[in-house]
Amino acid sequence: MTKTLTGIAASDGFAHAPAYKLVEPDLTVSKEKIDDTDAEIESLKDAFSKSKEELQAIRKKAEESLGEEEAQVFDAHIMVLDDPDLFDQTKSVIEENQMNAEAAFEQVTDNFIQMFEAMEDNPYMQERAADIKDVRKRVIAHLLNVTLPNPSTIDKEVIVIAEDLTPSDTAQLNKDYVKAFVTDIGGRTSHSAIMARSLEIPAIVGAGVVTEEIVDGTELLVDGTTGEVIVDPTDEQVATFEKAAAEFEELKAQWETLKDEETRTKDGKHVELAANIGTPKDVPGVIENGGEGVGLYRTEFLYMDSNELPTEDEQYEAYKKVLEAMDGKPVVVRTMDIGGDKELPYLDLPDEMNPFLGYRAIRISLEEDEIFRTQLRALLRASVHGKLRIMFPMIATIQELRDAKAILEEERQKLVDQDVDVADDFQVGIMIEIPAAAVIADQLAKEVDFFSIGTNDLMQYTMAADRMNERVSYLYQPYNPSLLRLIDFVIKAAHKEGKWAGMCGEVAGDQRAVPLLLGMGLDEFSMSATSILKTRSLLSKLDSKEMEALAEKALNDCGTQEDVIALLDEYNL
Ligand code: PEP
Ligand code: MG
Repeated sequence: MTKTLTGIAASDGFAHAPAYKLVEPDLTVSKEKIDDTDAEIESLKDAFSKSKEELQAIRKKAEESLGEEEAQVFDAHIMVLDDPDLFDQTKSVIEENQMNAEAAFEQVTDNFIQMFEAMEDNPYMQERAADIKDVRKRVIAHLLNVTLPNPSTIDKEVIVIAEDLTPSDTAQLNKDYVKAFVTDIGGRTSHSAIMARSLEIPAIVGAGVVTEEIVDGTELLVDGTTGEVIVDPTDEQVATFEKAAAEFEELKAQWETLKDEETRTKDGKHVELAANIGTPKDVPGVIENGGEGVGLYRTEFLYMDSNELPTEDEQYEAYKKVLEAMDGKPVVVRTMDIGGDKELPYLDLPDEMNPFLGYRAIRISLEEDEIFRTQLRALLRASVHGKLRIMFPMIATIQELRDAKAILEEERQKLVDQDVDVADDFQVGIMIEIPAAAVIADQLAKEVDFFSIGTNDLMQYTMAADRMNERVSYLYQPYNPSLLRLIDFVIKAAHKEGKWAGMCGEVAGDQRAVPLLLGMGLDEFSMSATSILKTRSLLSKLDSKEMEALAEKALNDCGTQEDVIALLDEYNL
């Protein structure tokens, strides 16, 4: 029967295809006494080798579609299978107890998992436990002769339905076949949503009950612009949908013509449209979409997709690649923002009650400054290859900024003393994503070259609403006057000191917010590369003076987000 489900529109676009449910089969194992232990050991061997083959294939596909860094997630899984202890111990349990292979394997892996999980304060070991759990599923599925849903083996057009998608799930999605995905949980800024935008796959997240409500294979219409999923649509609904999808394609073709144009408003004002990237592999997408720079390079992926800290040279190569590929256009590189929802398995970070309020980003960098210094040296060495802007995340106080700048200067001086080339025109700025920094922006502005407003965190801290928790997602209110006032204050504070203000949080690419941000005087908008052209098109239709008046009204006369939306409607925006 036809029904419509609604979630959070996380990535633009339309898709019409059958549902492919990414739900695990029953992997319950029962213990049995067997006579032919040799046959059992053979099955185990077979399951290991099939699992390994699968993982190698998954790794290869991930590398092709997403790049080497994403693909490394699977190396750890292959390593688990290569560990002779795991096989030998299972073999002994089979032989000594005449136990069936799946029960013996479960028992042995349980021991390993418990042992690693007991090392509570060692996240690296916790991660190994997670790897073993993942691999165990695969091996047991082979022993039980059931198939695990595997996004990388999808070979016909589908819409993936899942409770949630882990980074490794998303890494396996092949966008030739996966036309969209819809998840039960997650928000606009969860990493699966951000990944969907960089893969240019329409996505709806936080839709609540899709895995319960949708039967595998059912025809679906996904509208990634509104967050609506129509299940088992009528012919009429399909026709309306196809029309909207075609209009969207037409619009996209129009936007395409703006690719090589400068961004200008109707009255000729220039603003910069830049892109957010996670790895050097994202740069071609920035260029294809006409990006005028990189406004946020989230370097933490360099750290997260590895089994150890990236070396200075590895980092230097990555930064150099991005700077060179951008060919003189500005590149804002953010120093590592680990912590919060971004874990680092090999760094012994404490377990915390409130990780988003805890030890993260610049707080780690200043405390464990060797990691920070390595990154800064790599950046300084790379500075001669393009137009570098170094940015510190999660600055809350002026002292943190001064400490970070002092370390940067020490490292710069050391390199200069060693006759290493360092550019003399790189800029240093900070993210404004903590309300404490926003309200003292007038003072901070004296000590930086630029600000970049991180609305994802600024909103969660202003509203005291966890950005990962959909129960409080109603407080994700990008047009709430409280947030708008902070943004306005920050932009004005920067301008007063002759500095520029950008925004790299998701609000910068929100078409509804763009007129307001233009009116407030934002100089640089940094967003998913795929949003650049439509934003350029929108800006070309806006008059900056009119938008100034609109922003003034929103800031002075509106009390609620709804008031602001009503005002935007009045302006027909
Ligand atoms: C932000 O907080 O708005 C931001 C851009 O950083 P991240 O999403 O990486 O925390
Ligand atoms: Mg942030």
